[in-house]
Amino acid sequence: MAKRNNTVIEREIRRRRSGLLLKCLIALLIFVSVGMIAWIIYETQFKEHKNPWTDAGSGVQTGEGASGDVSADQTGETAAVSNGQDSPDGEEGGALPAPAQGEEASLESQANRMAAQYDYDGAIELLKSQPDYDRNDRFKNLVVNYEKTKASCTPYPIDQITHVFFHSLVYDTAKAFDGDAYEAGYNQVMTTVSEMDSILNQMYNKGYVMISLHDMVEFDEAGNLSTKQILLPPGKTPFVLSQDDCSYYHYMDGDGFPQKLVVTEDGKVKNSYLEDDGSISIGDYDVVPIVDTFVEQHPDFSYHGHKGILALTGYEGVLGYRTDEVYKTRQADRVTEFQQVFFDQHPDFNFDQEVADAKKVADAMKAEGWEFASHTWGHINPRTYSMESLQRDSNRWRDWVEPIVGPTDVLIFAFGADIGDWQPYTMSNEYYAHYKSMGFRIFCNVDASTKYWVQIGTDYLRQARRNLDGYRMYYTPDLISDLFDVDQAWDSSRPTPVPKM
Ligand SMILES: [Zn+2]
Repeated sequence: MAKRNNTVIEREIRRRRSGLLLKCLIALLIFVSVGMIAWIIYETQFKEHKNPWTDAGSGVQTGEGASGDVSADQTGETAAVSNGQDSPDGEEGGALPAPAQGEEASLESQANRMAAQYDYDGAIELLKSQPDYDRNDRFKNLVVNYEKTKASCTPYPIDQITHVFFHSLVYDTAKAFDGDAYEAGYNQVMTTVSEMDSILNQMYNKGYVMISLHDMVEFDEAGNLSTKQILLPPGKTPFVLSQDDCSYYHYMDGDGFPQKLVVTEDGKVKNSYLEDDGSISIGDYDVVPIVDTFVEQHPDFSYHGHKGILALTGYEGVLGYRTDEVYKTRQADRVTEFQQVFFDQHPDFNFDQEVADAKKVADAMKAEGWEFASHTWGHINPRTYSMESLQRDSNRWRDWVEPIVGPTDVLIFAFGADIGDWQPYTMSNEYYAHYKSMGFRIFCNVDASTKYWVQIGTDYLRQARRNLDGYRMYYTPDLISDLFDVDQAWDSSRPTPVPKM
């Protein structure tokens, strides 16, 4: 009886086993199919956004334009480029002919990067200036392809260029949105690090390319403006990026923002951040290092290597460094409560060292393609000031900020203010006459009601900017839908509703 039962049970087990095996097979099939579909979607939908010259080792794309031009078949050589340099997307390798070596490989990689950033003339010039160019078929092939790609480019209308801006990014949202007196302001005018990451990715995938204001116009000795040409391949849209108030003001201490920008040993600009346990972390916690890292990975997001422009005040120093006059003189009637707390907490503060450190950061940033603008020294709305006070404000910027960041002809107004209505500036506008005499030629206000607003005068350029912050994203996401999808970018750690202004 027991034996018979055992046999039945064994048979039952065997039956179940083969059923299980069948289920496993089906699951495996489904798994493989999903993988195939994902791969096909990646190949067809996402890969095309990459630029043909992105990296020496990751070159060839299929399809559009000149992308497929630099390919192995040109010289009949199929060896993968293995110079070990900047090839994060190694799976695409094998793009370029002949394993160039040493100096030649690095020249080629440099030229490819320039071409990836739409500086075809620079790339061609670089290769043609090599002494053995006439005998170097690799270089000649590259030049032909750069020329071909350049010929496919068209000039973008200068008066249709959009400009977006950010304040300091919120790194630790729990600290910024903690219910204190500053929470509402951060929620309204700041953007979080995760939102910034999404915005950059989305804009990149839409074909946006970061340019400098100085790619749009130039001025001769006499101050007369002429427009420049921005050449981009089809599907690419230039935009200007700026960041206001990158000072890491005292009031932001402990609210989840970095302390300052710093230069690392390898010359990169990063943020320092004070952790709860008192240790300092170094990383990408604000616009500058986040954009730098993004462009390292996506060189074609930057036009000729140009990055954004930082609009700086001076009253609490720049870039997180306490470099204003008052930190040197400690003049009693000028020291604010915040500044007194700072002095008390930093008995070893050394003003000259602080200025030297700030200058080192500014220099490293300029080398990375960043520019600086005045945001007025005191974060003022010029038209609410007398001409005398205005002059004092401008002098302070010139005396305490300019020595660190260098001269600039760009004025990015605070409060989104302006010194006139929409009609062209004239010298009969005393504010314009003042700022022109101080060397300013490019002026930016804030107007997010249109995609772009550019006014090209005979002796100045004026451009409106669009705020990509909590307020804009929460209340009027449609006004920025040409740039990115707010639903994808929105940081759910923001308290809602974003308070009304
Ligand atoms: Zn500001």
